[in-house]
Amino acid sequence: MSKLEYTSLDEIPKIHELLRAGFKSGKTRPVAYRKHQLLQLAYLLKDNRQRFRDAFSADFKRPYEESDMLEIDPSIGCVVEAYDSVAKWAARERAPFDQLWFAMSPAIRKEPRGTVLVVAPFNYPVLLLVNGFVGAIAAGCTVLLKPSELVPSISGLLAELLPQYLDQDLYRIVNGAVPEMTKILELKWDHIFYTGGGRVAQIISIAAAKHLTPLTLELGGKSPVVIDPGCDLNVAARRILWGKTINAGQVCLAPDYALVPKDFQDTFVAAMQRAFNEFFPTESPRPGVMSCIVSQQHASRLKRLVDETKGTIVFGGQVDVEQQFISPTVVKDVAGDDVLMSEEIFGPILPVVPVKDVDEAIEFINARDSPLALYVFSRDSAFKAKVFDNTQSGMAVANEVVIGMAVHGVPFGGTGASGHGYSTGKWSFDAFTHLRATFDNPSWVDTLIFNRRYPPYSVCLVA
Ligand code: NAD
Repeated sequence: MSKLEYTSLDEIPKIHELLRAGFKSGKTRPVAYRKHQLLQLAYLLKDNRQRFRDAFSADFKRPYEESDMLEIDPSIGCVVEAYDSVAKWAARERAPFDQLWFAMSPAIRKEPRGTVLVVAPFNYPVLLLVNGFVGAIAAGCTVLLKPSELVPSISGLLAELLPQYLDQDLYRIVNGAVPEMTKILELKWDHIFYTGGGRVAQIISIAAAKHLTPLTLELGGKSPVVIDPGCDLNVAARRILWGKTINAGQVCLAPDYALVPKDFQDTFVAAMQRAFNEFFPTESPRPGVMSCIVSQQHASRLKRLVDETKGTIVFGGQVDVEQQFISPTVVKDVAGDDVLMSEEIFGPILPVVPVKDVDEAIEFINARDSPLALYVFSRDSAFKAKVFDNTQSGMAVANEVVIGMAVHGVPFGGTGASGHGYSTGKWSFDAFTHLRATFDNPSWVDTLIFNRRYPPYSVCLVA
């Protein structure tokens, strides 16, 4: 694994000052300038596709196709959407006509929040950085980017390329771990856009509160899958296994566990086994064919979950901590208090929890934190509606997993423990934008309301 050069602690306040001065300079105000910077970001990604693929491979042994499909192409798509739309997003909006107020020309100016911080996790280190970064550039903010230290090849590459493509007075990267983040969080930011786990989100929220800094928190959690026995089972199994296999299950939207009627459990796990045989027909999965776990520490954590579960392993279960590799694993007969249900799995392990019926599945979900996504596999509209109408989650998705974040035209965001605020497309722009109400009241209005507005009033209620 390559060594990542960390930014010196003394440098961090200087970068903050520089970004504040960059914002005050007004350089980010013209939409044409923001578009130019967005275009440069698109070129950064496009020109260096092979270097990014190699860096993903160095950090995760991730297959090239997966990096293209799930990281590089969606990142470019995200930049292009903002490039095409920023003029519309940033345009001043007139308030709807109202005969009482129209004379004041009420309108909304879309103002950049200022100098902002974007913090990304390790699992989709480019896409999840770009998701916030694009919104911040489009909104006209100056930006500090903090990629994850767990993916040194990617974070190093970003630090190398950013100055070659984007304006260094306006957009900077700090690389580092906890001491660097702690230094960053001592400073005042005008918005923090954080993607990562709930534990660090609490640290960030406390630091932000000291400066009353607004936050977007894109977090994770245990996203359940509810199985209706009448679903298209082979498609369900294939999609669920895919959601657990890509990036070795290190996906915030990965299906975390499946809730399956008890008498259907064996049919369901047999379908999962068939999907596994389809995905890996000739050889067992290995690093490079499937991604690795990001660190030995995370691999050990997953090994402990596999070793300590009281459920029955249907297939998989081999964990190579040294190679940081885990074969896709399905575990059945998992109880609600099992170790596999104690934390977000973030690895290629699927616990199957048997339940009596859909009512018990709903109860099970509602007894836990609101997940980022809730998945249902069913062909029955009433079944889907029952689950969605009686639960809460960031997303409610039928017959699909994971790809929700890539779908244009819908917001992405959690609720409760899975986060707050929204991103993707215009929602990312909105996160970094202050809606500044504006009016301009002409003098002639006084001739209409003079007698009612200013004292002396004609009626005095107090004797
Ligand atoms: P993490 O919370 O450990 O780290 C994210 C960032 O926080 C990194 O940049 C890291 O340097 C920083 N950080 C770590 N420890 C810190 C500390 N003590 N003080 C200050 N900053 C600190 O998250 P991760 O392990 O990289 O990512 C996995 C988590 O992210 C999962 O929970 C997953 O569900 C979530 N996630 C959410 C989304 C989403 O869009 N909702 C996307 C991907 C991942």
